[in-house]
Amino acid sequence: MNFVGQFPAYRPRRLRQSAALRRLVSETQLNAAQLVLPLFVRSGRKVRRPIQAMPGVFQLSPDEILREATRAHHLGVPAILLFGIPDKKDAKASGAYAAKGIVQETVRLLKKELPQLLVITDVCLCEYMEHGHCGIVQQSKSGAKILNDPTLKLLARTAASHVEAGADMVAPSDMMDGRVRAIREQLDADGFSETPIMSYAAKFASAFYGPFREVAESTPKFGDRRSYQMDAGNAEEALREVALDIQEGADIVMVKPALAYLDLIHRVKTQFGYPTAAYAVSAEYSMIKAAAARGWIDERALTLESLLAMRRAGADLLITYAAQDVARWLKEGTA
Ligand SMILES: [Zn+2]
Repeated sequence: MNFVGQFPAYRPRRLRQSAALRRLVSETQLNAAQLVLPLFVRSGRKVRRPIQAMPGVFQLSPDEILREATRAHHLGVPAILLFGIPDKKDAKASGAYAAKGIVQETVRLLKKELPQLLVITDVCLCEYMEHGHCGIVQQSKSGAKILNDPTLKLLARTAASHVEAGADMVAPSDMMDGRVRAIREQLDADGFSETPIMSYAAKFASAFYGPFREVAESTPKFGDRRSYQMDAGNAEEALREVALDIQEGADIVMVKPALAYLDLIHRVKTQFGYPTAAYAVSAEYSMIKAAAARGWIDERALTLESLLAMRRAGADLLITYAAQDVARWLKEGTA
């Protein structure tokens, strides 16, 4: 900063005197147009299976997904991020790329009934693998290894099957090396060169994902994800991950989790200037819900302030389980 006025000539409080003045000089705003709502689909009809640690979040059957997505869309939420919970899991994650898989069928339904809604699909294998890891596992005496390159084919196939079904964007979350390129090449080869990729570029191995595993039913049966997700202390490496994904063809890059990683959101946005997404993950949501249920915090104020902080740090898109509430609050003008 080159110049700052000095007291008493400069009094910052002058511009804080009224709501109208404060709004006039407000630097960062929340807007429903920036929100993405994650949704979890499982087979069946009229299924709304609540998630204990995430009040207001459900596993939904496709008909209920349509209802939920319609409601969100009417509130002004422009996009959903779809996760699938298959009936069967195996060692090849067949359900992930099945032409009539749960995600593929739901995408078809959504794009038919609600064509205006942007449907982004999460591309990963963990929900479809019997072992719950994001890639192909090789067992040996020294333990289990997650194989990188053979996994890329399955991820590319999964992404292509989502787009074939009508997905507007794919979002690979696996953290295998080279997966954005593999997906980009597959989509281009299949005639989908216009379909964007939002990569989970800097995704950390995080305790903030705890409640998500209940909803996505994707807890690893052995080991953890630290051989592919990032170490929480590594910022420089996160920037290299983002650079790689951009070189491989990512159109939007994501930092996940969000609130504890605002420094990275800021650095990614500043350094690359690419559209940047922040994923406010399950525990970020659960902690607010739990404290609010006890009357310890103001749920609305805290949710909005958290998301505003992500925006201020540099996030363009906000992926949040609270998207519908936030859109409603913004609409009511109580934000
Ligand atoms: Zn995964």
